[in-house]
Amino acid sequence: MFHVKQFKNFDVLVVGAGHAGVEAAVMASRMGAKTAMVTFSKDDIGRLSCNPAMGGLGKGHLIREIDAIGGIIGQVSDLAGIQFRMLNKTRGEAVQGPRAQIDRNLYKQNLLNLLEKEKISLLYDEVLNIKLCSSANNKNVEALELQSLGKIYCKSAIITTGTFLRGIIHQGGNNWSAGRINSKPSIKLASFFKSNNFKTMRLKTGTPPRLFANSIDFSKCQKQYGDDNPEPFSFLNDKIKTKQICCHITHTNEKTHEVVKRNIRKSPMFNGQIKSKGPRYCPSLEDKVYRFKDKKSHQIFLEPETLENEIIYPNGISTSLPVEVQKSFLKSIVGLENVKIDQFGYSIEYDCIDSSELQHSLETKKINGLFLAGQINGTTGYEEAAAQGLVAGINAARKISKKEPVVFKREEGYIGVMVSDLCRGGLIEPYRMFTSRAEYRLLLRADNADERLSDLGINLNVACKTRKKKWLDKKRIINKANKLLHALSASPQQYSKFGIKINMDGRKRSAYEIIGYKDVSWEMLRKMWPKIRALNISTRTQQQIKANSFYQRYSSKQQQEIDDLENDRMIRLGDKINYTKCAGLSNEVKEILSRHKPQNIAQARVLPGMTPAAASILLRFAKK
Ligand code: FAD
Repeated sequence: MFHVKQFKNFDVLVVGAGHAGVEAAVMASRMGAKTAMVTFSKDDIGRLSCNPAMGGLGKGHLIREIDAIGGIIGQVSDLAGIQFRMLNKTRGEAVQGPRAQIDRNLYKQNLLNLLEKEKISLLYDEVLNIKLCSSANNKNVEALELQSLGKIYCKSAIITTGTFLRGIIHQGGNNWSAGRINSKPSIKLASFFKSNNFKTMRLKTGTPPRLFANSIDFSKCQKQYGDDNPEPFSFLNDKIKTKQICCHITHTNEKTHEVVKRNIRKSPMFNGQIKSKGPRYCPSLEDKVYRFKDKKSHQIFLEPETLENEIIYPNGISTSLPVEVQKSFLKSIVGLENVKIDQFGYSIEYDCIDSSELQHSLETKKINGLFLAGQINGTTGYEEAAAQGLVAGINAARKISKKEPVVFKREEGYIGVMVSDLCRGGLIEPYRMFTSRAEYRLLLRADNADERLSDLGINLNVACKTRKKKWLDKKRIINKANKLLHALSASPQQYSKFGIKINMDGRKRSAYEIIGYKDVSWEMLRKMWPKIRALNISTRTQQQIKANSFYQRYSSKQQQEIDDLENDRMIRLGDKINYTKCAGLSNEVKEILSRHKPQNIAQARVLPGMTPAAASILLRFAKK
């Protein structure tokens, strides 16, 4: 990594060093583009602006996909993860999501260490404007104008400014301009988008207060341990070496809710001060108390921000109530009676660009060479930002070498699902990833992301040598195992002699089919066919092959659903359907359908904000 100021000419300039910016810069530079990353300050590199956690359902899938291609978010999270949990562990692999509590200092330090190995220049300055030049009816990016360093030329620019564009923080009746707490906003750059007629929108997000751990009585709280055998995010790692810690759980209660209710008009979200929409699935405490009036209590996860355990992030109570009200409701919570507050909760409103302005490469439709990634496109979350950064970085580098863009497909991964959802436009609130957004979700598992995407990373030359070797070795083993398991077959009677109970229908089944059965273990098959032992497969790969076999049975059903959707386009919906009764649809989609009242499936499918996955659920509901 170079810290240079003398260069005035780059292939790719990335604005922002958050999760989108970092992946974008890493991808572009690995593809041979002379790349620089501009950010307000060094302290912003890889900063976790809200919760100290990575992954979860859908989000964990994104991390694995980024990692499988060659991105670095998974490796850094493994080095900084202090409590790993596989969510939905008791359910099928398709809906399991790896998640980890992250030490925010370790995250930054390890990210900087990894960036040292990349060829990326770092510039600490504010970008004020994007300079364009015109050629034959096209507007092209020519340079960025920086406050201190002046004009820096580039062939492509990737803007990843997060919540900074015209950011305004709200805390009770107080509000002030900021990109997030203790950061300058980006006001001049925001005017570039207005003056170039980009469709923009205002969104909002919020964060809870941070608490001093030594003022919390953890003995009154429930303990929450991580997994005994933490599973790394990155396919490069077999083990987590960082020390693991325990988190705690407490709850709000009727007293807490009483304080919130009494003061709700002091919340900028309820007194008209904030007009923009926030993430539906991370509601503030005042939102929860208002919307779920009959709920007497809400869970709060007390999550350490670092291994030193000095500051606690109380996950579940984001708020923009005045500081006095925050103090008062916090003291009503068990374990927090004497709590001391390090930083108060707040909300932030910011500009983002309507994602219908984007092509699938994440280049804007209006300006050649201008790419957008991350929260600026209306998403929320580190993982969503990082995935877009990867797409934009790859495509910005390809653009300057005059190569066709790489378009990520929905059936290949959650990255493709997100990009195609975004490009349809019509976001009405911050977009976050869920497994339910993918119509091919049984195939898009977190555990098989390398099978789906590592070859792509190798072909694009963005995977490092170790990853390349590791994946090619693993692929060889999987192929060998598949070949052998398909070649071995037996009747139900023969299987039953080894304790494998299946339907006695006389049908011969291959060992590959049988390993997908829930109660069949690799050991059972090894007893039956000792030559399987010679395959010498790691436990993680054994699980992957088992899951592949299990889900293969459902993939044809899933394809059928997708074909049905095409054939049944004209099925009538009409005005009278009560979409709130359609189980499986997100509240966001229910709201879109109720508002637009499409007359048939074809009309519903093209509504802004509607996803193919939601259309499949709707079709099943309409047919009933
Ligand atoms: P960021 O990580 O925000 O990085 C932006 C970068 O751009 C910074 O490096 C900054 O220095 C740089 N920058 C901006 N303008 C300029 C300029 N003009 N010149 C130079 N550099 C510039 N996510 C969730 O998943 N759930 C939540 O509940 C949640 N709540 C949040 C609450 C708050 C208050 C905030 C601030 C964020 C929250 N997030 C939440 C969002 C999460 O932090 C972001 O989604 C994620 O960090 C976005 O990544 P990014 O790379 O797009 O931008």
